Amino acid sequence: MKSALYNRLDELYPDMVDLRRDLHRNPELSFEEVRTPQLIADFYDELGMKVRTEVGGRGVVAVLEGALPGKTVALRADFDALPINDKKDVSYKSTVPGVMHACGHDGHTSTLLFLAKALHEQKEKISGKVVFIHQFAEEITPGGAKPMIEDGCLDGVDVLFGTHLWSGFPTGTIAYKTGRFMAAADSFEIVIKGKGGHGGIPHEAIDSIVIASGLVTNLQQIVSRFVNPSRTAVVSIGSFHAGSAFNVLSETATLKGTVRTFDMEVREKIITLMEQMIKGACVSAGADYSFNYQRGYPPVVNHEKETMMLKDAAKKVECVKDVVETEALMVGEDVAYYLQKVPGTFFLTGSGNEKRQSTYPHHHQMFDIDEEAMLIAAKTLGEATLSYLEQSSQSLSEAEEVNR
Ligand code: MN
Repeated sequence: MKSALYNRLDELYPDMVDLRRDLHRNPELSFEEVRTPQLIADFYDELGMKVRTEVGGRGVVAVLEGALPGKTVALRADFDALPINDKKDVSYKSTVPGVMHACGHDGHTSTLLFLAKALHEQKEKISGKVVFIHQFAEEITPGGAKPMIEDGCLDGVDVLFGTHLWSGFPTGTIAYKTGRFMAAADSFEIVIKGKGGHGGIPHEAIDSIVIASGLVTNLQQIVSRFVNPSRTAVVSIGSFHAGSAFNVLSETATLKGTVRTFDMEVREKIITLMEQMIKGACVSAGADYSFNYQRGYPPVVNHEKETMMLKDAAKKVECVKDVVETEALMVGEDVAYYLQKVPGTFFLTGSGNEKRQSTYPHHHQMFDIDEEAMLIAAKTLGEATLSYLEQSSQSLSEAEEVNR
């Protein structure tokens, strides 16, 4: 059955590329997706598959019911784009100014649609169900995953697999990681409220820039002095805005930054320490402040058994050249929510290829994917899905044997 699936995916590959390019030309921002979910729903309608739209908002979920009884596998792909100008010189360049598929979600969508099509054609031989989760709004918190789960997209699901095309790995590579894989990605804004004044008369002002400058360096002590060194965290200030003239002391200074953690205890400790340091600095200088901390997605934690299953599956796919264990990444992904509910794994499918100019980092104006990677992702997800369903239907019938 698997070789038939691979052959069919090879045949469908040109269509997969066409559809991905169509999506690439017509990107839609998070929480504003209209055409994309419609296109996805129409695709499943045409296949004659059960499809539910407006799941949790703008999500689309289709279900493939195999002819034989068995477990349920969910596969997840996101479909939103980014507020970035497409600078590539290609025929399928974005037609929407300032909006671009700069993270490969167009590729995720096309991969999943054609895998669904190929699997659907073999449903007579499939033991169990496959749920295709097309998620809106991954790029902006609160994200689409949570409302989709609340709207039942994981009901009855036994395991979830998902992948991200990744320009940091060459095409042909599948990268997996058990346990903590991607960080909780939070953001914050600190406003120091001092008292404006003359640059030559500092004693009559409260200089927000001096207070904020001290904070920039002191906040770095949180990671180096307060977080257990065997755990990981990042505190970064990415923006510092204050003042407008050389001889005027600025009344306010605004710092913006991000905190990345893998551990909820560490995250909460960091928030408390930040507030203490900000308060301390302001109290000692007679200033006031506001501190706004935005908790982002929780960390992505992959399940051991399912990750090993995925690794074994990837090794069986002939176009996969390399299966490697990756380090944890300090980026956030709301696939985290699904993996809090059901076992599963999220892995990377390498899409970097110099010849295809697809080695730019994600969210770059020149970002592109090597489309071959979609075929590799489809085969790996297909192999993992069928392996899981076969293994569980075998153990089901073995259990029946014993009970007899
Ligand atoms: Mn992404």
